[in-house]
Amino acid sequence: MQTTDILLTNAHILTMDEQMNQFNPGAIAINGDSIIAVGPEADIKKEYAGRETVDCGGSLLMPGLINAHTHVPMTLLRGLADDLRLDVWLSGYMWPVEREFVSPEFVRLGTQIACAELIRSGVTTFNDMYFYEESVAKATAEAGMRAVCGQSVLKFPVADADSYEDSMEIARDYIQRWKGHPLIIPSIAPHAPYTTTPEILRATAELAKEFDVPLHIHIAETSFEVENMRNENGMPVVPYVKKQGLFEAKVIAAHCVHIDPGEMRTLLHAGAGVSHNPSSNLKLASGFAPVMKMLETGLNVGIGTDGPASNNDLDMFEEVRLAAFIAKAVTNDPTSLPAATALTMATRLGAQALHIGHLTGSLTPGRRADLILIDGGRGQLNAALTALNRLGIEGITVAGLAKREEEIYVPEREAPIRLERRDPALQLLQTVRDETHRFAVSSHRRRRSKRTLHSELEDLPGIGDKRRRLLIERFGSLSGVKQASEQDLINVLGRKIGKTLYAELHPA
Ligand SMILES: [Zn+2]
Repeated sequence: MQTTDILLTNAHILTMDEQMNQFNPGAIAINGDSIIAVGPEADIKKEYAGRETVDCGGSLLMPGLINAHTHVPMTLLRGLADDLRLDVWLSGYMWPVEREFVSPEFVRLGTQIACAELIRSGVTTFNDMYFYEESVAKATAEAGMRAVCGQSVLKFPVADADSYEDSMEIARDYIQRWKGHPLIIPSIAPHAPYTTTPEILRATAELAKEFDVPLHIHIAETSFEVENMRNENGMPVVPYVKKQGLFEAKVIAAHCVHIDPGEMRTLLHAGAGVSHNPSSNLKLASGFAPVMKMLETGLNVGIGTDGPASNNDLDMFEEVRLAAFIAKAVTNDPTSLPAATALTMATRLGAQALHIGHLTGSLTPGRRADLILIDGGRGQLNAALTALNRLGIEGITVAGLAKREEEIYVPEREAPIRLERRDPALQLLQTVRDETHRFAVSSHRRRRSKRTLHSELEDLPGIGDKRRRLLIERFGSLSGVKQASEQDLINVLGRKIGKTLYAELHPA
C-alpha cells in the first residue's frame, strides 16, 4: 500500500486519454502537483491510501479545459467597440486605446477578472498574447492557473515598447526569468504576419528556438489578410511565414480560418498547433475555419475564446458547443465534430496544440493534476464546478467555483482573492473602463464627423478628395493614417503616392 497526498474517490472519471478511458466509479491518486494513478475505484483503493480522501459524490471528474487562444487583460476592453470589421476594430479602436491606457496595473487587473471567469467556466490552462505579459504571468500564477504567456511583438509602437527591438529585449528578459516556472510557460508572440516584418518573424522564431519556448501568432484570420498577402508577396499566409523560418519554432497558430489543404500539411509537418476560435470568428465575421479538414489532416486543433473583447466572454463550454454546432452546419452534416471530439479539442488536443501535452490535457499518470469536478445534479455545467482547490494542495492547478465574478480562488486553503465591490482594485477597474469608454466614444465621434476628418486630412500633401475618402475608409482617422505602414499606404494609394505620403509623414 502506497500513501499519497490525496485520493479522489467515487467519481465518474473522463480521462480524455488516447483511449478515452472512463472509470465509474473511478478514483485518482495525487502526489504533490501530479497524478500518480487513475482507474477503477476498487483497484486504486487497493494500492493507494490518501493522507486526505475526498468522496466526489458520483460527480464527473475530468481534465480542466484549455483555452487555446486569448488576450486575457482585454476583459477591461469588453464592450468597448462592437459590430465592426477586424481591421477597423483593431486599428481604429483597440490599438489606439491600448497605446493610451494599457499599463502593468491594467494588465494585472484585467488578468484577475479573466482568471475568475475562466475558473468559473472550468478552465485550468490558457494561452495568452498581450503587452506587459509578465504582469499576466504574475496574476495568473497567483490565481493558481496554468498558462502559456506570450509577450507581443509588433512592427509599430505599442503600449509597452516604442520599437520592435524594445519588445524583443523585454521578451528575452521575461522568458529568461520565467522559464521553468511550475505554472507559467513563457512564450513570444509576433502578433500576425501583417503587423510584423520578415525580420521580426525571423528574430522571434530564433528567440523561441533559443529558449525552446512556444511561439504564438495569429494566422490567416480574415480573407482580407490572405488577399493582401497574395497581392504583396504572391503567396498565402502559411508559406510566407514558413519562408521566414517561423516553423523552426514550436508554433501555436491562432485562427487559421482561410488556409488550404497544402497549408494544413505544412502546419502538420512543422508540428504546429492550431487554435480554433468559433465565437470570435462569428463576431468579426471572419469566416468558418475548416476544422474538420484540419482534424482529418491530423493537426492538433484546440479551442479558444480569443480576447474577451472579441467574444464577449471567456466561457469555454459555450465555445466547445459552438465548435461542434458550427462544424455541423458548415459541412451540412450533423455527424461532423461529435461532442467527444469537441471535448477532446478543449482538453488533450488543446494541450498538444500548446506544446504542453506532456503536462496537462488528460488524466494520465505523470500529468499535472489539473482537474475539474462537475456536479451533474445541478444541471448547468459551468455553474456547478466545485472548488477542488479548497483542498489546499499546494501546486495543484484547479478550477473552482467562483461564486461571483469578483472572486478569485487561489490554491491556498480558504484564501480566495476577493474583489469586493468597494475594493480599490475594482474601483480602479471602473475608472479604467469609464475612461476607455469615454476615449472610444470620442474617437467614434471623430470618426463619424467626416467633415472634420476631411479637414484634418487636408494637411496631407498631394492627396485629392477621392484618395482622402479611401484613407478615411481604411484608417478611420488622421492618427490611423500616421500609424499606417508604408505598405498599407501603398495598398490604398498606389506605389508612388503611398511612398511619397509615407515619407512626408515620417521624415527621417
Ligand atoms: Zn486573438
